[in-house]
Amino acid sequence: MTDDSKTPGRKPKAATDMIGNHKLKPSTMMMGHGYDPMLSEGSLKPPIFQTSTFAFENAAAGKRFFEGVTGQRPGGAEGLVYSRFNGPNQEILEDRLGVWDGAEDALVFSSGMTAICVLMLACCAAGDVIVHSGPLYAASEGFVAKALSKFGVTYIDFPAGASRAELDGILGRAKTQAAENGGKVAMIYLESPANPTNALVDVEAVKASRDEILDANDTPIAIDNTFLGPLWSRPLDHGADIVVYSLTKYAGGHSDLVAGSIAGAKKWMDPVRALRNTMGGICDPNTAWMLLRSLETLELRMSRAGENAEKVCAYLKTHPKVDGLGYLGMIEDASQQDIYDRHYSGAGSTFSVFIKGGEAEAFRFLDNLKIAKLAVSLGGTETLASLPAAMTHLSVPPERKEMLGITDNLVRISIGIEDPDDLIADFEQALAQV
Ligand SMILES: *Cc1c(COP(=O)(O)O)cnc(C)c1O
Repeated sequence: MTDDSKTPGRKPKAATDMIGNHKLKPSTMMMGHGYDPMLSEGSLKPPIFQTSTFAFENAAAGKRFFEGVTGQRPGGAEGLVYSRFNGPNQEILEDRLGVWDGAEDALVFSSGMTAICVLMLACCAAGDVIVHSGPLYAASEGFVAKALSKFGVTYIDFPAGASRAELDGILGRAKTQAAENGGKVAMIYLESPANPTNALVDVEAVKASRDEILDANDTPIAIDNTFLGPLWSRPLDHGADIVVYSLTKYAGGHSDLVAGSIAGAKKWMDPVRALRNTMGGICDPNTAWMLLRSLETLELRMSRAGENAEKVCAYLKTHPKVDGLGYLGMIEDASQQDIYDRHYSGAGSTFSVFIKGGEAEAFRFLDNLKIAKLAVSLGGTETLASLPAAMTHLSVPPERKEMLGITDNLVRISIGIEDPDDLIADFEQALAQV
């Protein structure tokens, strides 16, 4: 991140997050944080800085900026250099994303998967071990198991919902494995709630276990917060070091862009920024601008979608053709409820509904929906429905599907911001066709 006061269009962060002693909320800060219209001809909204490179005021400034970019001078770049490294739209976006999670620093990427891959590559060396919760988003799991393994990085996974005692066992094994391979435990990588089961990971227990068994300076805890963040889940408050997003989902929120981000303390972000500078993978200025627009309505959208999901689930819960719900507002397991109560402030709007019967009945339900669209992805303004066993998780082997509870009648639904009575009417008529 460059020095705010020297970047076109940007203003020192401190100036926009307080009124006297009153600390502003993220939803307010999304309208102005990190941007000063007076530095851009009074343009109320940031212009899209569509440029590949930035002119230096003089040669000495160019040298200074490069010293920052290459790490020869601590504290990062003092000014903008080249658009593979950063640009004003992306920097404003990074500042605003950091606000939601209470993070010191944030980095944006061209997709959620780019964010995850560059983060892992930056943290790992040959011989290292990654410990991760399971299940993960399939591409994340594949990157660890298939791509990183080519470079001598091994992994150990544990089921989301593992207890403190189980976590101690896993981390102890990982430490031994790393020592045998001549490496370290490079990262504990979590995803909570897990897709598509909504199983929750106890981040506080993972932190306590990590602090006892491993060195907190060597082994950051990263967590994919795409499903409940940033509104209902702030993992950095519970001991995570790095928070990861597919901004494609709730943050973008309109199913019209693909992007990703990570956030956390500068010491964890700096090596990732250096690798991003080398590889590219930063999101483009237009996508960053669209995300700034989206973040202004993030709280409104997520709140409405959450309220809608609560109403829809209350309706589905007692329907005779429904065999159960995987909705975080209706958890049945006491230890999962305990994790939920300690970590989350809302149940979200993405859940599973088990249709009585099997694939044929689930297909009939899906094929008869009129408002909800049949598509994978989540977190958009419109309601989406899909069948993971036949779509996103088609390639998962049958035994693992069974272990994870991914059955042929599990329909995944992401509720949007439509009128809730209309959504209920749609589900009612589709269930009547089953
Ligand atoms: C969609 C998703 C990703 C991948 O993000 P892309 O933006 O599609 O690359 C990662 N994790 C979770 C939980 C997701 O839902």
